[in-house]
Amino acid sequence: MMDAVPALDLAALDPEQAAAVRAPRGPVCVLAGAGTGKTRTITHRIAHLVSAGHVKADQVLAVTFTARAAGELRGRLRDLGLGGEANQVQARTFHAAALRQLKYFWPQVVGDVPWRLIDSKFPIVAQAANRAGLSSATDSVRDLLSEIEWAKASLIAPEDYPAAAAARHREPPYDAQRVAEVYAAYESLKTTPDGLLLDFDDLLLHTAAALEDYPAVAEEFRGRYRSFVVDEYQDVTPLQQRVLGAWLGERDDLTVVGDANQTIYSFTGATPSYLLDFSRRFPEATVVRLERDYRSTPQVVSLANRVIGAARGRIAGTRLQLIGQRPDGPEPIFAEHPDVPAEAAAVASEIRRLVDGGTPASEIAVLYRINAQSESYEQSLTEAGLPYQVRGGEGFFQRAEVRQAVSLLRQAASREDLPEQSTSGESLVTLVRAVLAPVGLTTTEPTGAQARERWESLVALVRLTEELLGQDESLDILGLLRELAARAEARHPPTVQGVTLASLHAAKGLEWDAVFLVGLADGTLPINHVMADDGSVADFAALEEERRLLYVGVTRAREYLRLSWALARTEGARRTRRRSRFLNGVVPDESPASRIAAPVVEAKGIRPTCRICAKPLIGTYATMLGRCRRCPAELDAVLLETLKEWRSEKAEALRVREFVVFTDTTLTAIAEQLPSDDGALQAIPGIGAKKIVQYGADVLAIVASRRRSTSQNRR
Ligand code: ATP
Ligand code: MG
Repeated sequence: MMDAVPALDLAALDPEQAAAVRAPRGPVCVLAGAGTGKTRTITHRIAHLVSAGHVKADQVLAVTFTARAAGELRGRLRDLGLGGEANQVQARTFHAAALRQLKYFWPQVVGDVPWRLIDSKFPIVAQAANRAGLSSATDSVRDLLSEIEWAKASLIAPEDYPAAAAARHREPPYDAQRVAEVYAAYESLKTTPDGLLLDFDDLLLHTAAALEDYPAVAEEFRGRYRSFVVDEYQDVTPLQQRVLGAWLGERDDLTVVGDANQTIYSFTGATPSYLLDFSRRFPEATVVRLERDYRSTPQVVSLANRVIGAARGRIAGTRLQLIGQRPDGPEPIFAEHPDVPAEAAAVASEIRRLVDGGTPASEIAVLYRINAQSESYEQSLTEAGLPYQVRGGEGFFQRAEVRQAVSLLRQAASREDLPEQSTSGESLVTLVRAVLAPVGLTTTEPTGAQARERWESLVALVRLTEELLGQDESLDILGLLRELAARAEARHPPTVQGVTLASLHAAKGLEWDAVFLVGLADGTLPINHVMADDGSVADFAALEEERRLLYVGVTRAREYLRLSWALARTEGARRTRRRSRFLNGVVPDESPASRIAAPVVEAKGIRPTCRICAKPLIGTYATMLGRCRRCPAELDAVLLETLKEWRSEKAEALRVREFVVFTDTTLTAIAEQLPSDDGALQAIPGIGAKKIVQYGADVLAIVASRRRSTSQNRR
């Protein structure tokens, strides 16, 4: 027996949404701005088609672009009663859907030629670059890889690459002809004596080809899936569109929703033209436009309208003015800071205030342009004792280039031929720079996106070194390595739901109560490579895409929104940066919302102070211990040993690594501070509510028993 799907409550929709939901089977297009309920409309449409008996749940295929967005779709469908075994709607990414289909159809199409999905294209591209006589250094290979990915997603064959790259203003890392050679070599290297190696794009290509060329496959597939839905359709690539076309065949049971003004993946080959031309392709399509914004307060909506109002070009011509539906909320805050560390500290202090005021940390996001920017926020949130998760990228110390850099520093530290004076004090910075140069720390900012990410991470490491030297002039390379290790350890992914740190690209489709848009300086947003050296616009289309990124960012906020930028990268450096050009005419200079130049004191104010000398604490290690590094500690060494023994038993019982229970620094802090209740325990950074529940009783019992034995000894 099938589980019954509850009849849909159309009262939860506005008239336009309901029109899209109720439209008969056939082509439907919802063209609408952020937060107007597009995703809600498609989930309700699916539920409606199923509950009214037009289609069975398992005949619907809903696709989107990221695993996270597909998960969100499945969650919302489940809430509408489409989650049970019998009523499962397939909601997947294009790639996941293609992978499943290809596994099924491969024997019919290719027979017994074995194939394997490759985990990393990198070594194959490196080999291809080598064959073409080009460098196989990491940055070079990454840039070649982005070109190959772009070409494949755009359905451009190797021989057509040079002409296409010129026509689309690509900036290939080498002469386009050479890139084409690498691309061709890459393709041929994937045919091996042991079978075929397929990358993600090959999955899509083979799926489309199987359906296009094998009528039996097409017939079977089309009997199985009858209704298709695409979310975020503005970011479809020609390759994905080809797969969608193959799925459909001659049929037209397709619902698409999207917002051309949120197109942010053009650099990968995505294009909003399929969305914008939908009604030309399907003249009988039901087209619905939505203008009511249900996500954000009128204050946020008004800012979003102003940001996108300044956009120019064909895409911009399709925008609609959003109308905020929610009750009033606070005005967005604009803040300028002298440097990035001050900006990060101020953001952490605001987040602390929101959390103390009752906003759950999981309802807060810090969004930035490139992943490397997360480092400053990982640091400031750690110092403020706030849990966080880095989404859509890796935490700073897990990044390949950072791990590589730290290992090179370790090698340098073990070299015996280095004169001592070059490994400490001022010259330590010079040494670090020299060691990091081969990994990609050039003196000027590189232009390629990948190279820029790496470069920013390396600059962040140099900045950390300078900062640590500021606290301790005599710091040497071993001390630096110790501090880096302590920081990496202190930041292991928290077990509790924390503040989200994500790039703007990874934030698409999602929403939070409070959003911090950080690093809004020219050169970061818009990113530097869209501008020529003299600051003029080098690439108009790319500049408009940067503006759309800001629009995506602003429209993620339900209520609280803070936009900030810094005038210098590091503390004390020259203030050469300017606020993002996208904020000109958008920041209401006369309004009370414009809190330009938030005072640094406020930022410093949140820093906890040393419990011994009462000075503000600087650095993760000091914050976790609750005292300056140099201040004498009253460490109970016996207690620390007992705690460590307890920890290893615990870790073994739970089958986790020891630091997952508590880090060394946290145990040291416990052994110094001797907490006697949950409150005192929770005041130690690194110990959140979840850890209290899991381990609080054990730890307090160990501390109490140690107290008793020491006081007996004293008696
Ligand atoms: P984006 O462009 O960012 O993907 P979207 O158009 O897909 O946005 P949704 O995520 O579907 O928007 O909706 C935004 C928020 O508004 C969600 O929290 C949703 O539940 C709510 N919402 C949508 N429509 C309505 C409605 N008719 N009544 C009440 N709330 C609504
Ligand atoms: Mg959506």
